[in-house]
Amino acid sequence: MTMNSIGRPTAPSATTGTDVETFTGNRGLDIEDGLIFEVGRNDVTGVDVPETPKVASRLGAHARKTPIDLPGLKEPETMRHYVRLSRQNYAIDLGVYPLGSCTMKHNPRLNEKMARLPGFADVHPLQPLATVPGAIELIADCGRWLLELTGMSSVAMSPKAGAHGEACGMMAIKAALTARGESRSIVLVPESAHGTNPATAALLGYKVVAIPAREDGTVDVEAVKAKLSSDVAALMLTNPNTCGLFERDIVAIAEAVHEAGAYFYADGANFNAIMGKVRPGDLGVDAMHINLHKTFSTPHGGGGPGAGPVVLSEKLAPFAPVPFVRFDADGKAEFIETRKQAGDTATPFGRIAAFHGQMGMFVRALAYMMSHGSDGLKQAAEDAVLNANYVKARLKDVMSLPFGDRHVMHEALFDDSFLEGTGVTTLDFAKAMIDEGFHPMTMYFPLVVHGAMLIEPTESESKAGLDQFVGALRSLVARAKAGDAESFKAAPIHAPRRRLDETRAARHPILKWTGERPEQQEAAE
Ligand SMILES: *Cc1c(COP(=O)(O)O)cnc(C)c1O
Repeated sequence: MTMNSIGRPTAPSATTGTDVETFTGNRGLDIEDGLIFEVGRNDVTGVDVPETPKVASRLGAHARKTPIDLPGLKEPETMRHYVRLSRQNYAIDLGVYPLGSCTMKHNPRLNEKMARLPGFADVHPLQPLATVPGAIELIADCGRWLLELTGMSSVAMSPKAGAHGEACGMMAIKAALTARGESRSIVLVPESAHGTNPATAALLGYKVVAIPAREDGTVDVEAVKAKLSSDVAALMLTNPNTCGLFERDIVAIAEAVHEAGAYFYADGANFNAIMGKVRPGDLGVDAMHINLHKTFSTPHGGGGPGAGPVVLSEKLAPFAPVPFVRFDADGKAEFIETRKQAGDTATPFGRIAAFHGQMGMFVRALAYMMSHGSDGLKQAAEDAVLNANYVKARLKDVMSLPFGDRHVMHEALFDDSFLEGTGVTTLDFAKAMIDEGFHPMTMYFPLVVHGAMLIEPTESESKAGLDQFVGALRSLVARAKAGDAESFKAAPIHAPRRRLDETRAARHPILKWTGERPEQQEAAE
């Protein structure tokens, strides 16, 4: 098979003996389109705006001397451009999206319908609170559900992502230590942690000390004890951890951390596996972020808005940033705008974000929680775990499990030892999955496992969907073992683009359109 200039396979013609290429570069329904800057024209627009009256410019020397140079398209061209682009993308609405640790699950359309109600969609963050009591009540209600599910006493709703929530929780811990007159300098982070954990600790000026993983992939309470001292501010731990395993010693770990005067930060990104089953508050957690865009099905990916509310224990509640939600004596949720109103004497660290957080995400998350109910959320967690164990069971005879055939939580972790001697790497294997029509699983993470492949099917996949996914993976394993490494090196063949130079993209991102394609830029350099 040969490839054309953009890396698409072409077929030889029986009559001419040369490769057949389409004039457009399109392949049936797979339609190529340029960037908006390439296909747009400056003199075209899809809207008809009235001439603006001529007024004297008061911009003086700041007035623009050159045309604004925005690309324009007519309305139908605009539609086609973006629809064509969207068809080159993968989406949870297209197929299984088994990214480990990310909980890419179905976003129920009911959530979308609720979020589009004008009373929620059209509020402005600068509106006086008195004009949006319903929206405030909704935020408080969403917070109340989170407190109920986690068994914690206060929740800051404003953080805008998991990593932002980590910063918020760790800042509350820092504020609490400062209030105690202490300035501890170390944060303990297990080796299997998500990269945002050590990054958050480092950002706040802490020295990060790694806790090695045990043979079985979990954290050993003795290893934590060995690193604890009066200089340790906190331990950051994910449970279930990023190997998909439940940290069984979590209560003993929490006790040891507290005994040393430190705080226990839990990374709640994997809460999907345990919601409705275990309350982190009962396990001794002091602060935990919740990724609404993972566990509570708000749309996720493409850099879209996330939401990372942080729940805090009673000890840390006084240090929650404003605004926050807490329960009053009657168990009613209150939305606290300023500390003064609440009559608190504590010293919070201020605001973590402007305004109240991602309103649209709160509506979607609450719609998800209310439509499931407590029994439904619990079932979602159980089904997520069941699905992961099903995938593990169906693949364990052909792929390799680094920690033995242990019961997993919401995700199944494989290493690359089953590929040994085949010449196929984890990366090749993942690229071949693209040709099968699947988004690859998480690769090379967690780092504690060689060539890791972390699969999180989530509860929203049916058995039929999982069987097809498993079938594709089993056939890829068979092909790799049959010595067909070459086809893996060529993959993906059927994707809109072949293998990209990911290192170059990361090291030399070109963030501004200059009118030249990167190859041209490089030639000019
Ligand atoms: C996703 C994730 C995070 C970070 O959350 P973002 O919303 O992407 O910032 C942190 N820890 C774990 C374990 C995660 O999976």
